[in-house]
Amino acid sequence: MLTQQEILNWLREKDPEKIHELIESADRLRGQTVGNAVHFRGLIELSSWCRRNCLYCGIRAFRTDLVRYRMTKEEVLECAKTAFDFGYGTVVIQAAEDPGISESFISEIIQEIKERYSLAVTLSLGERKESEWIRWKEAGADRYLLRFETSNQKLYEAIHPKAPDTIYPNRFALLRKLREIGYEVGSGVMIGIPGQNMSDLARDIELFHELDLDMIGCGPFLAHPATPLGSLTGDPVKDAEIRSKYHLPEAEEQVESSNDMAFKVIALTRLVCPKANIPSTTAVATIDGKKGRVSGLSSGANVIMPNLTPTRYRALYEIYPNKAATFETAKQTHQTAMEQIESIGRTLGTGKGSRLH
Ligand code: SAH
Repeated sequence: MLTQQEILNWLREKDPEKIHELIESADRLRGQTVGNAVHFRGLIELSSWCRRNCLYCGIRAFRTDLVRYRMTKEEVLECAKTAFDFGYGTVVIQAAEDPGISESFISEIIQEIKERYSLAVTLSLGERKESEWIRWKEAGADRYLLRFETSNQKLYEAIHPKAPDTIYPNRFALLRKLREIGYEVGSGVMIGIPGQNMSDLARDIELFHELDLDMIGCGPFLAHPATPLGSLTGDPVKDAEIRSKYHLPEAEEQVESSNDMAFKVIALTRLVCPKANIPSTTAVATIDGKKGRVSGLSSGANVIMPNLTPTRYRALYEIYPNKAATFETAKQTHQTAMEQIESIGRTLGTGKGSRLH
């Protein structure tokens, strides 16, 4: 197991040959542990209504100029059918933190998906009541995704302001609860959040191992101009004002938000969590399209999450700008993803793609 210092040294490494070796060794290990299959998780972006004001997110509550949507049960079931027809093993139901999504609405969706199709159901609905998490597990949900975003507590508190009913200072206690309830648990971080130190990121990666996560998704931070973090311009005077207004700490050694950094993070994550499910994320594909996603898969990742959200809603779930596949249909997104995995000799995973033990 790499130490935190070794992880940090790798994050700082600039020699392209050494980086290439790191990525190759992660890719080799991926082949030995989870094999050549790429598991496709069909992503359904259920709702863009949000009660939170995360400083990074393009659909934060303060954006009153946005058209918001919430899909119907029938629409979600239609997406699940598409996933099943394409041969996927999992659907991921993701949403903003929407109080208009009731416990029973999600329970019914889970039950119907389970009755009709042999699909694993992953939920990513933000911070919800423990009682809801329990009911959804009972209804048949298999997995829950909740990124801890950063292990730097001061930075987390700044970028993820509390809701009135927030009890815990960060997401670690919540991840423990999800595990206790019986979910396979996924988490992850953003790479290059303004204020994120290289040492913070090294600690994040060490935590992936300590938390024994089943899934780990990481992507570069992408500045959305309509958010506080996206309004940092590089002008020292203006930026100082924004930092002070939002209590945003300054980093001594700022992480760059790039795909090169993301590929290193994917590789290091594979090395510390050999059997975990690791996606080549949409954020990676947003920076560099097809090449980005394929390079992620060649750096240790074994999962992709093709977007199945109906085209009419996609542009409304703009958590960051130019999100990959915003103007495509599910079929186009699927075909592109198939071409991508075939171009590197990988195959579509069969079964539900649960975490190996
Ligand atoms: N409401 C849910 C789902 C959030 S969207 C929740 O809070 O858990 C899923 C992930 O997208 C977030 O956890 C965050 O890591 C990532 N994300 C959001 N805004 C982003 C941005 N501007 N750049 C990069 N990633 C972002």
